[in-house]
Amino acid sequence: MDFDWPTDDDPQRLDIRNWLHQHGGDPTQEALATAGFVAPHWPKPYGLAADPIHQLIIDEELSAAGVRRAAGGIGLGWAGPTILFGGTPEQQERYLWPILTGQEVWCQLFSEPDSGSDLANLATRAVRDGDRYIVNGSKIWSSGAHRSQFGILIARTDPDVPKHRGVSYFICPMDTPGLELRPIVDMTTAYSFNQTFFTDMELPIENRIGEENDGWRLAKVTLGNERVSLSGEGALWGSGPSATDLLDVVRSAGGVEDPVLRDRASRLHIEGEILRLIRLRTLTSQLQGRQPGPEASVRKALADEHGQNVMRLAKDLMGAQGMLTNTGPLGQPAEFPFTQSAVEGWQNWHGGFLFSPALTIGGGTSEVQRNIIAERVLGLPHDIDVQFGNSWTQNQTG
Ligand SMILES: Cc1cc2nc3c(=O)[nH]c(=O)nc-3n(C[C@H](O)[C@H](O)[C@H](O)COP(=O)(O)OP(=O)(O)OC[C@H]3O[C@@H](n4cnc5c(N)ncnc54)[C@H](O)[C@@H]3O)c2cc1C
Repeated sequence: MDFDWPTDDDPQRLDIRNWLHQHGGDPTQEALATAGFVAPHWPKPYGLAADPIHQLIIDEELSAAGVRRAAGGIGLGWAGPTILFGGTPEQQERYLWPILTGQEVWCQLFSEPDSGSDLANLATRAVRDGDRYIVNGSKIWSSGAHRSQFGILIARTDPDVPKHRGVSYFICPMDTPGLELRPIVDMTTAYSFNQTFFTDMELPIENRIGEENDGWRLAKVTLGNERVSLSGEGALWGSGPSATDLLDVVRSAGGVEDPVLRDRASRLHIEGEILRLIRLRTLTSQLQGRQPGPEASVRKALADEHGQNVMRLAKDLMGAQGMLTNTGPLGQPAEFPFTQSAVEGWQNWHGGFLFSPALTIGGGTSEVQRNIIAERVLGLPHDIDVQFGNSWTQNQTG
């Protein structure tokens, strides 16, 4: 940590307190959005073009006042920044405000049955027909699609160029005729995923973001978007309990005697501390206006496996009781404190344990993450690309 933390009488803090006072301490979501407090790092009028310190002050002041911002998820994190980056002023005006107020929820229609890690290989086709596109194909693992009004969709508009070059980026209303959702229930028993089918679905041309065939560049903007955040020490992608929470449970139950479990508990503490220090290093970079360095890539690889270790130890501490659904470690309550309640299936230690294998798959698998570290951090040679120079169609025909 190497930066000056804003003091309690910092003028920016006082401004926010004053604003909260004027709004009776309980502002509406519309008021928060209009004031620029929902995504302060976005440019005006949607945000405040806030620097990292200002963002953290806003986060701190709102959370100290118990003010909750309804917006979140894929709309705020991914769709919004992409529309800001590549959308027309009309698209920005239409879609950004309801994202900021939390009135419209978004999902992500990227992965397909045959293209996850190799996303650019996607096969869903969008064929131009005058001032509309006809979309056919399917997406999978569409989280929350059944609760969403819109999806960000990438589809192939030119199959005769190399795979990264023939992709376009669309806004897809989820009630469009020709779009069908089939639920996928995961092993936590939650219905959070879908497979999404498109059969001659029509999208008007004004639903395209950016130029035709420039969608891969925009998809990289979507996937690379990360704001400064203080929150998120939970073991499940920043939510749920942390290693510290689990060790508090162990302490409050009088500790454990089994030497192997004690050893695993100590290791968890060490991993948790390393991750905390890496987060602070990343934060320091952001606050000093530098791009996070190699530690950002290393953090995801470590944090995902750490999350699995936390949930696995919690289960093992339950002993045979761990086979029951409503038990917590060492006879403690099954529920754990949430830092983010939107995700189904993580409500207790059991659900968290069942969810934890997803950590090393979603958002880039562990293996893909290690490839990134090897190539971009360690400077090792790039994987040999046997498809280099081929069009997408040539790749399909072998
Ligand atoms: C909880 C969760 C939520 C998700 N939500 C969404 C969503 O809302 N929208 C969406 O579009 N997608 C979503 N996904 C999908 C996610 O993006 C993909 O699962 C992920 O990109 C991996 O793709 P895949 O499942 O096709 O696995 P594959 O890419 O088929 O990988 C299979 C195995 O091969 C390995 N592998 C692949 N390529 C390489 C390589 N080059 N070198 C070494 N090993 C390799 C992988 O590591 C993995 O072990 C979600 C996934 C999860 C787990």
